Amino acid sequence: MTKNEINKFKEILEARQAELSEVLRNREGIAIEKSPDALDEVQRAAERELAIRNLDRESNLLRNVRAALRRIQEGNFGTCLHCEEEISPKRLAAVPWTPYCIECQEMADRNRDENNEMFDDLLVTAA
Ligand SMILES: [Zn+2]
Repeated sequence: MTKNEINKFKEILEARQAELSEVLRNREGIAIEKSPDALDEVQRAAERELAIRNLDRESNLLRNVRAALRRIQEGNFGTCLHCEEEISPKRLAAVPWTPYCIECQEMADRNRDENNEMFDDLLVTAA
């Protein structure tokens, strides 16, 4: 990968990092408001649940984005953490923060158990 290409990924990742940090900061105080209306209360509980799930997903994504930026600094960005082969440019373009090549990702997907379902959104495969 050329320096230019790396810089482009760095820009994308930094923008993403800023965006996610902002979202997560704003979500920190998920308000737990009580409502006298029971139906409204159910609705709020569902919204809270959704917000917490999103929060989980965004924190995970942010962690992956930060790890990718660290790999850029260390000079091993674009290399699969598992098999140490190069990750295809197409996959990196679709998921710049991915730590794994498509083969290792698919293997991880197959071995994934239910406890890991919150990672689903991170395991995006490039088309
Ligand atoms: Zn691999």
